Amino acid sequence: MKDGRLLVVPLGGLGEFGMNCLALRYGDDIIVIDAGMMFPEEELLGVDVVIPDFAYLQENREHVRALILTHGHEDHIGATPFLLSEFDIPVYGTEFTLALAGRRLEEHELKERAKLNVLQPGQTIEIGPFKIQFIHVTHSIVSAVALAITTPLGMIIHTGDFKVDPTPTDNDLFDLHTLADCGKRGVLLLLSDSTNVDRAGYTESERAVRPRLEDILNRATGRLVVACFSSSVHRLQQLVDLGQEFERKICFLGRSMMTVTEIAHSLGLLHIPDRILLRSQDLGSVPRNKLMVVLSGTQGEPMSALARVAVDNHKSISVEHGDTVVLSSRIIPGNEKAIYRMINHLSRRGADVIYGSMNPPVHVSGHASAEELKLVLNLVRPKYFMPIHGEYRQLAKHASLAEHLRSVGLEDTFVLETGETLEVDARGARKGGRVNVGRVCIDSGTLDEVVEDLVIRDRRHLSEDGFVLPIIAINKHTGKSEGLPELVSRGFMSGEESAGLLLEARQVVSRTLESSTAEERTDWGVMKEKIRTDLRRFLSKQNSRRPLIIPVILEI
Ligand SMILES: [Zn+2]
Ligand SMILES: [Zn+2]
Repeated sequence: MKDGRLLVVPLGGLGEFGMNCLALRYGDDIIVIDAGMMFPEEELLGVDVVIPDFAYLQENREHVRALILTHGHEDHIGATPFLLSEFDIPVYGTEFTLALAGRRLEEHELKERAKLNVLQPGQTIEIGPFKIQFIHVTHSIVSAVALAITTPLGMIIHTGDFKVDPTPTDNDLFDLHTLADCGKRGVLLLLSDSTNVDRAGYTESERAVRPRLEDILNRATGRLVVACFSSSVHRLQQLVDLGQEFERKICFLGRSMMTVTEIAHSLGLLHIPDRILLRSQDLGSVPRNKLMVVLSGTQGEPMSALARVAVDNHKSISVEHGDTVVLSSRIIPGNEKAIYRMINHLSRRGADVIYGSMNPPVHVSGHASAEELKLVLNLVRPKYFMPIHGEYRQLAKHASLAEHLRSVGLEDTFVLETGETLEVDARGARKGGRVNVGRVCIDSGTLDEVVEDLVIRDRRHLSEDGFVLPIIAINKHTGKSEGLPELVSRGFMSGEESAGLLLEARQVVSRTLESSTAEERTDWGVMKEKIRTDLRRFLSKQNSRRPLIIPVILEI
């Protein structure tokens, strides 16, 4: 690539929700900012995790220098193991972010060889032509940073995720000074979080949840069960503090809740008074009104602690009449059904379930609303502005928030989607060419289980048209089929209409077998394909549906 040109290449998170990943290239050097995952939408049946396609990085393998992580949320670190399994590059992040990423790497047995480098807010690292400074920001997770990246063409500010919390619970304020200072020195390009652009005004401070939680504790007569994201360390701190005030023992339940609180505690980010914690096996030893259980599973994830409590299938705790359950979280669009089903179960058990929006709130967002976004725009006063993290409508709206800056030096805004690029050189900035991007679907979280498109197509078939299994028994000695082939079907047709059709279908399979040559019959692969083709033709002619057909040949 010719020198003197800067390329901004979004590989995920622009024009879609989640899997944030962006490559910056100057000359022959590429750095990657965040490697996140997204939780699959409903049409990706049964897939567990979706990550960005790293094709662009693979095509430029020898130029990829480092991965920089802005904070520890899954939509920013979740694809780290998949990136590092292919690229032996150093990773930079704050201590807490790297601890969470390290946990993911451990699960994939990549922790040993990973080169994790802790960088504190305020510190700077030099990678090729890039000089990267960490700037502390406030967000729903602790230890989140924005990046000030100095390049030969000027400075780029990447905000990561943020809100401007004037009263964070740990009193660690958003470093607006450094941001303003960058603005004064001149910023070439601002990349800023668009998640909450639709919300007017300011996002409430994390402290705003305290009055509601206090009120709940004042009224609770039985057990108090609070569900929240395990990474929300500020929220956990407030719960621990309230537990101490109201003389309730605290029990953290669930694997992610246990490990994240351990990490946060060991790094001094979560303060836990002596003797307040209770192990899950000791839950029975404390009166119901002296207990607060904190667990994960706010989105109704089927295996989560709260979902299991809801159906009374948790080994250490059950909820009964008089208990209070709080969902201190937002309902992520797409999860409504699962969450409401879980709340129904909990209500049936007699629990008082507190969830949703209310005033004072039981949950506040971690993302900046419109006025905070404007504040950052006004402080940074970039020459070019490119909104990131959001669907197209959010990116477009965020771009329009910057219009007033045209009179003070803003030259252009760029609303780009994943795969489109921004090209900057001495003459200015413009949309560049497209690069290869996409989504890679992973089954049960391991690299070996990358699901091919084909598999997803099969699963869609299954959900819509069901499946048909022709079972053919072949006599080992004669090489002939024994009797009429069996047909097993599910979700394809029901009752009487199917009986006649299935009998005919069995005869179709039988005819296919008979009309095949002896040679074909010894090759099971060929036979399966022939059976599949003939059966598909027959079934689609009969009732225009296309079930998944999987011939099974048994040798007897
Ligand atoms: Zn995010
Ligand atoms: Zn985040």
